Amino acid sequence: MNKRIIVQKYGGSSVANIDRIKAVAKRILSFKTNNNCIVVVVSALGDTTDELEELAFNITKNPSDREMDMLMSTGEQISCALLAIAIKAQGHDAISFTGHQVGIKTDKSHTNARIESISARRIRKALAENKIVIVAGFQGVSKDNDITTLGRGGSDLSAVALAQTLKADVCEIFTDVKGIYTTDPRIVKQARKIKVITFDEMLEMASLGAQVMQARSIEVAKRFNIPIHVRSSFSKEEGTMIVKKNMKLEEVAVQGVTSSKSDAKITICAVPDQPGIAAKIFTEVSKTGTNVDIIVQNVSHTRHTDISFTVPKKDLSKAFAAARSIAQRIKAGEVQQDKNIARISIVGSGMRSHHGIAAKMFQTLAKNKINIEMIATSEISISCVINNAQVIKAVKALHKAFQLEKRPSK
Ligand code: ADP
Ligand code: ASP
Ligand code: MG
Repeated sequence: MNKRIIVQKYGGSSVANIDRIKAVAKRILSFKTNNNCIVVVVSALGDTTDELEELAFNITKNPSDREMDMLMSTGEQISCALLAIAIKAQGHDAISFTGHQVGIKTDKSHTNARIESISARRIRKALAENKIVIVAGFQGVSKDNDITTLGRGGSDLSAVALAQTLKADVCEIFTDVKGIYTTDPRIVKQARKIKVITFDEMLEMASLGAQVMQARSIEVAKRFNIPIHVRSSFSKEEGTMIVKKNMKLEEVAVQGVTSSKSDAKITICAVPDQPGIAAKIFTEVSKTGTNVDIIVQNVSHTRHTDISFTVPKKDLSKAFAAARSIAQRIKAGEVQQDKNIARISIVGSGMRSHHGIAAKMFQTLAKNKINIEMIATSEISISCVINNAQVIKAVKALHKAFQLEKRPSK
């Protein structure tokens, strides 16, 4: 009989200290039977990755990406070894591997590498020997044999990619909350756990700031149709299923509210309103490798217009320099930057068939005296850029306005 293959991922807070590592080991063993094989992906202990990053930034603002990967990947090497030690101490055979050892091959984009292939030969061999396999999340190796990392939150991606390679029967993401909530439960106490969410909705929520799953991991899950169960490391309760299609008769208009403070805004004032000018500006900015997101161009009354756009905060200085240089060449006016913005979004597949959702969002923000600086929409989301000091107020107000809170129990 073919054994069932279970891939489980435990996040940083689930393995934050030795007691938690022992508890995770115990939990993994509680899932182990003679009829299954378990592969565990583990993140670095607690805030280790942030701490490692800070060590480098204490030396220089511009550490090399290759060396950052050498540094940041060490966190997961520690946690996977400790977890294997804990499982063995509890009486079951286990073996830990780095990304390199299990053949997670990536491209060379250090700090945000893409997985190209996974051989998993050593995993299969160890599973055949009935060992529990622990894989260091977040890392791989490039063709040049350099260690790479998969972007922040990348252990989620390691888990989903391994589930695909191994054709796993189950892919479970264990974390410090009980599942995917209608909004970050740290911001809104009344946030409600969602039972089932689609890949599209989760991808949108993750891309728009819900840190609970890495967006890239959901892209892979969607591409290969790998259902994911997001659940708590600390209880056995059912969590949230992320699936292709929600089998409810009607789709809800709004599933969740997210917010993100990771972008900044650049405004080029008094841009001559002529064909080809936008192309010139954004060609120049794209040369810096920056991903521009929301773009707003005002109506022109004087044959000049202001153009504003958002960029990731980490790319602000190079994008700003590029904007200033092109502004001079096209004889535009002043170039401004604003780091104090936040993006607040509502997400839901049912938006396609419900009307009045945008109006309700804008009314809610207006009632709360929150000024909207920019607006962006997709088929299943609406985002507004606002002042970041108002973001918590905005999340709470929208969560309430769309009645996403817990239903009081009778
Ligand atoms: P892990 O270390 O397990 O990978 P993360 O810190 O990456 O965990 O993600 C879990 C956190 O994501 C939660 O503690 C929660 O505060 C936050 N979060 C943000 N938005 C949501 C949401 N919509 N649902 C659940 N958690 C969310
Ligand atoms: N430790 C890495 C990070 O903090 C990867 C992960 O936890 O998923 O981003
Ligand atoms: Mg995470």
